[in-house]
Amino acid sequence: VAEQGPPERTVRTTCAYCGVGCAFDAGVGDGTVVNMVPADDGPSNQGHACMKGRFGWTYNYAPDRLRVPLLRQGNQWVEMSWPDALDRIAHEWVRLRDTYGPDALATISSSRGTNEENYLFGKFMRCVVGSNHIDNCARVCHSATVTGMMDTIGASAATNSIQDLDLAKLVLVVGANPTESHPVVGARIKQAVRRGAALIVIDPRRTELARLADLHLQLHPGTNVALLNGLGHILIQEGLIDQDYVRDRTQGFEEWVKVVESCTPETTSKVTGVPAHLIAEAARRYATSGGSMAVHGLGMTEHRWGSHGVMALVNLALATGNIGKPGTGINPLRGQNNVQGASDVGCLPTFFAGYQPFDNPELAAAHLAITGRPLPTTRGMKTPDMWDAAIAGTLKSLWIIGYDVAQTDPNLKKVHAALKSLEFLIVQDLFLSETAKLAHLVIPGASFLEKDGTFTNLERRIQRIRKAVEPPAGVLPDWQVVCEVSARMGYPMWYGHPSAIMDEIAQLAPMFAGVSYDRLEAPEGLQWPVPSKEHPGTSLMHEHSFPKGKAQFVAVDYLPPGESPTETYPLVLITGRILQHYNCGAQTRRTGIMQVVDTDVLEIHARDAAQLDLHDGEIVRLVSARGEARLPVMVSDRVQPGELFTSFHFPHTDLNVLLSSSADESSKCPEYKVSTVRIEKVLPA
Ligand code: SF4
Repeated sequence: VAEQGPPERTVRTTCAYCGVGCAFDAGVGDGTVVNMVPADDGPSNQGHACMKGRFGWTYNYAPDRLRVPLLRQGNQWVEMSWPDALDRIAHEWVRLRDTYGPDALATISSSRGTNEENYLFGKFMRCVVGSNHIDNCARVCHSATVTGMMDTIGASAATNSIQDLDLAKLVLVVGANPTESHPVVGARIKQAVRRGAALIVIDPRRTELARLADLHLQLHPGTNVALLNGLGHILIQEGLIDQDYVRDRTQGFEEWVKVVESCTPETTSKVTGVPAHLIAEAARRYATSGGSMAVHGLGMTEHRWGSHGVMALVNLALATGNIGKPGTGINPLRGQNNVQGASDVGCLPTFFAGYQPFDNPELAAAHLAITGRPLPTTRGMKTPDMWDAAIAGTLKSLWIIGYDVAQTDPNLKKVHAALKSLEFLIVQDLFLSETAKLAHLVIPGASFLEKDGTFTNLERRIQRIRKAVEPPAGVLPDWQVVCEVSARMGYPMWYGHPSAIMDEIAQLAPMFAGVSYDRLEAPEGLQWPVPSKEHPGTSLMHEHSFPKGKAQFVAVDYLPPGESPTETYPLVLITGRILQHYNCGAQTRRTGIMQVVDTDVLEIHARDAAQLDLHDGEIVRLVSARGEARLPVMVSDRVQPGELFTSFHFPHTDLNVLLSSSADESSKCPEYKVSTVRIEKVLPA
């Protein structure tokens, strides 16, 4: 592909990997994408990019791209015509809905889809099926952020913009490894440090940023709440509270004080393993920097008490007046390209588009007027509930778009059992993913280079993706597939172009009221909320007030993770991502990046490696109470003794078999970051 010569034309689009949302010009020649050049006027990347966005797009032309619908017959796949496949979905879903009721059906969407596709999938479930059983892949990454930020400041997205890293006097990175997972943001943090910003990193691993940091608080996995409460204790003890801000803009402060009063540096140090003087120093620096900007990632959310961790972080920002000002705030690094948008437009079992509660009478009236159908008012199931319902036999069919749950969700044996329990599993994807292999019907998808739409990045920026090339013959974009099935189920939804879907979203969700494709032609896109056509968008949130007037301190006590080391399983396994690969690896594994990294690797501390007589590259069996996985080890000082780290980019590793179903109490965000395991050396045959 890369040898086809210079492009004849370029098409401005947005990277389909991480949530930074780098803008690219896709070079097209002879009907094929020939290169991807990062755009100098890209608002979040300004000409920068990482290897995934720059070189990891050639999966678009992988020989195993799905091109025709596939129907399972016994152990065989049989090719189907598109009309027959669409008829089959409609027939099965009408039959199952009419036999068992709307709640026997559910859908899971993903960040692979555009905002318009995600909205439409939700509309299909609510108007055609009559159920709120719709979720998206944010469930397993930042759903704890949604809960934690909604309950405190009333909006579940970054308070500031990426460019604010240039203004921050101090950057606090909590449970995030942006130089690998959000490389362009990681580079910007390094630039901030170079110009003099202080850097504090809270992470069990000694990441690249941790090495650069002024302070690295290397806590035990699962102890975020204890550590953040410990910082709060210092703020109170040393008179570092912004009293005016607390009085004017918050409520619940006294309850928070009562909880953190007992979190002395000594008790905090005992729980977290972080020396007491570092806890005190971090609190002082955060409170007195003159502008502290917090960014957090999955090391904050993917815990048994992930939403509490987010709340504990927000409490610190409220206590020090670090929200609503440039260069400050709470800024979740949303993982995937459009995971922010999928939730924003209502692919959630608990909220409609724009995070509107279902019992809002104005929303109900507007929805009925525009769609002709009432809004279901009962909450839907979250993804882990769907696994339980499938195994229990009450959920009969699932339709999954662009999300490989059979590789990336935790406790894989349970997930596989759930998928196999379904009467009819539909999977829509570019490739025969691990999930698609278990499906009854597989529908090919169009890639981001082959369709129009919008993605929303981690700073709430809605940006266009534009069709650069045609999809494989006959392949429809996901939104058209949903429309075709909907029409066959008696509810025609016809849109000439995704822009018309965005117009409908703008009609129904006040925070998108001013969004339209003509305004999105500008390279900078629009950052929500955009409450009117005249509104310029919002780069800084909560400047003068919070959505509910005042922000709420939510006092949270430290509670231990779901699992603690035992004699049988003495080591703690942390999972995460590496720079070269992306999530399930479906895209990056089909590119030249495979020549750089072709397997998951287990990081182990030298002390543990010596005790187990392990050396770099040796294969080990990693065993948990759920199952076992095999992978090579790498001795590394990035992990502490007693802790291990690996990724789950490769299906052959079968890594997520090891993980439990333990999840955050309210959001159900799984505890990917703490699993207890043991290592067994695999002796040569
Ligand atoms: Fe794509 Fe993220 Fe890399 Fe930018 S930083 S090129 S959005 S993967």
